[in-house]
Amino acid sequence: MSYEIRTWPDRILKQKMKKVDFFGDQKLKEYVDIMWKKMYELDGVGLAANQIGIPYQIIVIDTTPREEEGKEGTKLVLINPEIVEKEGETQSTEGCLSFPGVQITIPRAEKVRVKAKDMEGNDIEINGEDFLAIVLQHEIDHINGIPFINYLPPVKKRMVLEKYMKSRKKEYGKAK
Ligand SMILES: [Zn+2]
Repeated sequence: MSYEIRTWPDRILKQKMKKVDFFGDQKLKEYVDIMWKKMYELDGVGLAANQIGIPYQIIVIDTTPREEEGKEGTKLVLINPEIVEKEGETQSTEGCLSFPGVQITIPRAEKVRVKAKDMEGNDIEINGEDFLAIVLQHEIDHINGIPFINYLPPVKKRMVLEKYMKSRKKEYGKAK
């Protein structure tokens, strides 16, 4: 397996991932290590397992600002995460490693409560606000097969996708 970043319209980005049931296993540790490595390599703030072809419900998040030193963000590994409560609404401008070049503004909840497991299988609960709440929603959507463009109105979604597919074609053309 190469663990390269999967970009839309890759099928794995449209599918709900399997729940992890191999807690404490070396395989889980390996997956998470690869996910951290890829996320930092690509300069992301979060990564869902299926974005690099791992078919399980795993996400990693690090909201630490990269360009400002000394500021601590939140660093999380969440296994089988689920949003159990949402509060408020905000407009969020987001990009996605699986949609290179696309940046859109979509509605998101302001606060979320998330239940998940840690790598040993213990129950954990996260209360996310502001930026962390947005990243949690974005990444948890990924493992459920929901791309962020789904929150756009249909006409706008079609426009964004057409432009994106055109730019991808150009990109592939260059590579050949
Ligand atoms: Zn994404």
